[in-house]
Amino acid sequence: MRILITAGPTREFLDPVRFLSNRSTGRMGYALSEVAAQRGHDVTLVSGPVAIPAPEHVTLVNVISARDMLAAVLAHLAHADVLIMSAAVADWRPKIRSLTKLKKRDMNPIIELEPNPDILASVKALKGDKIIIGFAAETHDVDEEARAKLERKGLDMIVANDVTQPGAGFEVDTNIVTLIPRTGDVVKLPLQSKTEVAEKIIAWTEAYTA
Ligand code: C5P
Repeated sequence: MRILITAGPTREFLDPVRFLSNRSTGRMGYALSEVAAQRGHDVTLVSGPVAIPAPEHVTLVNVISARDMLAAVLAHLAHADVLIMSAAVADWRPKIRSLTKLKKRDMNPIIELEPNPDILASVKALKGDKIIIGFAAETHDVDEEARAKLERKGLDMIVANDVTQPGAGFEVDTNIVTLIPRTGDVVKLPLQSKTEVAEKIIAWTEAYTA
């Protein structure tokens, strides 16, 4: 299969030196890319800025902002059978991006934001028979919130995790997730490495298309 995977955070610049971002390290998306490539799939990894090396045998596309990521996903989606959106896309960006460094004395301490495009929602109309998988990082009512996202974003499966649990979510090598497919059985996975979680997600995808 040709699998398009997004990973990492996005950066939304206020000026040349300051940005809004989040705690994503990219580890989940990189693990997915590595496992998918090892299993013989053709992988394109669209990555926000991260500190980890790209896996072998993966086509890496580096992006910075959510709008860059949307453009990269749109550019590669036509050639993909599967899209896995594991990136932590910033929902908002500063309304104004200064071309020069803002000086403390001239800075308005209130930053006005505007919404970024929702990449999954933007590609919904292009889905056709592609498999689209999203992630949901939640702090409460995890399964209900994730299922609502699955419906709203028109996904085949959503990977839900409770980011308040130790060993799950950002900045750790492990994750505790529930795979919630549109149809079929919900799979609650115990704490395991992100590589093991990636194996389960790629195996689910292979079985879904078989
Ligand atoms: O709505 P929420 O951000 O929680 O949804 C998470 C899912 O949506 C993830 O798969 C994420 O990659 C994707 N997403 C997106 N575009 C955004 C924000 C999130 O595609 N602007």
